[in-house]
Amino acid sequence: MELSSANIKTDKLAAASVAGVELHILRLDSIHPVVSGNKWFKLKEYLKKARLAGAPAIVTFGGAHSNHIVAAACAAEMEGFASIGIIRGEEPAAYSSALNDAMGYGMRLVFLSRSEYALRKRSRDVSWLGSAPGNCYVIPEGGAGEEGVAGASEILRFVENAGEYSDIVTAIGTGATTAGILRSAAPGQRVTGISVMKNNKALHGEIEALLQRSITDGFGVIHDYHFGGYGKYNPELLQWMNRFYHMSTIPLDFVYTGKMMYGVFDLVRRGYFSVGAKILVVHSGGLQGNRSLPAGALEY
Ligand SMILES: *Cc1c(COP(=O)(O)O)cnc(C)c1O
Repeated sequence: MELSSANIKTDKLAAASVAGVELHILRLDSIHPVVSGNKWFKLKEYLKKARLAGAPAIVTFGGAHSNHIVAAACAAEMEGFASIGIIRGEEPAAYSSALNDAMGYGMRLVFLSRSEYALRKRSRDVSWLGSAPGNCYVIPEGGAGEEGVAGASEILRFVENAGEYSDIVTAIGTGATTAGILRSAAPGQRVTGISVMKNNKALHGEIEALLQRSITDGFGVIHDYHFGGYGKYNPELLQWMNRFYHMSTIPLDFVYTGKMMYGVFDLVRRGYFSVGAKILVVHSGGLQGNRSLPAGALEY
């Protein structure tokens, strides 16, 4: 899949300027319905390497609701690779829509107990898979490795006058996307990552590790908008996402971008951004994840 900048737009949100800041939203959600947002950027360098290595298959790791697993399965199918997904936790009685989708793209799923998963996910050796085709190319969990960061560091190329923003905001899962943004941000730009996990205070260090340097300024991780933890939500979040949609016609997902955008608006109210700030919010996609919500919960 080739990326064209034609369908990546940056929308300006008119309503936000009343608060003394300008909000612009980078619509990575429009890249592709499944390999959406940051996932394509994080995968593309791995797929290039897999092809160069002549690997017939890719192997990657993730949870049962992982957007990365679905995106990897779909991208692998489009690019002609077989794919194997190593899934954290025992095989569930009923598959999530993510797992069903991944299987639909031809991914073979292998379920590991949490403890075994934790052991295996750090290794590039997948010979324990036994029946796996030889010479598989291993993509780390969430695409969070050097190639994922390198891919994500290209995101800002799709933004006109990217250097003019005072602030860039991303949702954080593994932090690979945020690391890529940090690598490519202009001097003086502040990058704010909104974590979607409950008090994952290791993130700052993990992002430093991905970048192989310490980051003392121009970067902050915010832990206040997790709504109970990864994949958790409450009626307030969903109502807010509906209101945001009616105001902007921009759909958000409840796992990442809904929490991030809720956070951005709250941070604007609390004066986190300077008056006159020009803020670029990265809409990292993930909309297919909304299918795991009860029908009718979202009005889009
Ligand atoms: C996976 C995902 C993220 C998290 O990206 P990381 O690089 O793991 O931090 C953010 N937003 C969406 C929509 C995602 O699917």
